[in-house]
Amino acid sequence: MMNVIGASVSEAAMTSHHETRDIVLPNQTDHVPQVAVDIGGSLAKVVYYTPSEAKGGRLHFKIFETEHIDACIDFIAELMNSARALAPQVKQVLQATGGGAYLFYDLLEQRLPGVVVEKDDEMECLTAGLSFFITEIPYEVFSYNELDPNPIRFEETPKNIYPYMIVNIGSGVSILKVTGPNQFTRISGTSLGGGTLWGLLSLLTDASSFDDMLEMSKEGDNRNVDLLVGDIYGTDYSKLGLKSSRIASSFGKVFKKGERQDKAKFESPDIAKSLLYMVSNNIGQIAYLNAQQHDIKRIYFGGCFIRGHPVTMNTLSYAIKFWSKGDMKALFLRHEGHLGATGAFLKHRSLPKPNLSCAFPSRSM
Ligand code: ADP
Repeated sequence: MMNVIGASVSEAAMTSHHETRDIVLPNQTDHVPQVAVDIGGSLAKVVYYTPSEAKGGRLHFKIFETEHIDACIDFIAELMNSARALAPQVKQVLQATGGGAYLFYDLLEQRLPGVVVEKDDEMECLTAGLSFFITEIPYEVFSYNELDPNPIRFEETPKNIYPYMIVNIGSGVSILKVTGPNQFTRISGTSLGGGTLWGLLSLLTDASSFDDMLEMSKEGDNRNVDLLVGDIYGTDYSKLGLKSSRIASSFGKVFKKGERQDKAKFESPDIAKSLLYMVSNNIGQIAYLNAQQHDIKRIYFGGCFIRGHPVTMNTLSYAIKFWSKGDMKALFLRHEGHLGATGAFLKHRSLPKPNLSCAFPSRSM
């Protein structure tokens, strides 16, 4: 078991803002024999531990594209080799979760000889990882409001964390209601998720990577492709409380009756912004409807789709605030993309020594 007392986010300077910050574990003393991987439809997330010479050690977070799973496995093999050099008598374990734990199971076994590959349930890992971040890590959970001079506001851990909802925005979207430790139901989901955004962007723009697209969208103006309330009314539709700047129809300006628009007229940054709004608004609204139906006030958003991107977080926050009239709260995490992998990492239980009478390790959390 990991000793997580005193765990905190490392505030050391980073070389790139795309990196995910380490977690410092000052009281971890035992050798750590496991690495965890969460292999999803788009990305493979790795969590691993390195001891420090003085005391304790660090959790590290890394991402690979699932398409390049071999590079990810090479990386894991190197980690396993260095850990084995430190403690040759201890069996190394890979805690694997996500669909890829099944899809690539044989490949993992074959490419990691001498390593025990344990499959862990994806949703169990997601909720275990999230609970760890909510309860153990200060300055992890925050709300976001771009109108605030300090848009990021860190949250104190509430006395009762349950019930809450987690909206995990990966390639697709899963919405879970969590009522206690390891007590959850998948109440909803949508296939319009991160994979949809990434796929449509690849078709419609010249963005060569996801982060490129996020960067590009900052300069974009969605009003060049979206049809706004003001485009239809010429003014606000005040009777319904709809401002003229509200999007009436995403991409509604592209099609013009009687004439085919010249595709070259539409700029990639504008398309990127519009698509980001479209997917985020839709997820925000579905999240609100589910929270309302289940009477839940705290909604955590996870998954690599968010990537700490201000427009995405603001759109989700605004949607929750707008639809719930301020009654519900959208919450984000600094390790949003690694919830499942962290949960898998923490699920590790020491394997029994070969000559012990109890042959089965306990797998309960
Ligand atoms: P999954 O487990 O389904 O792979 P993730 O939580 O890893 O889901 O999120 C995947 C989504 O994150 C992608 O569909 C895309 O929207 C977004 N994303 C973030 N970073 C990247 C990246 N470097 N490459 C591709 N997609 C990315």
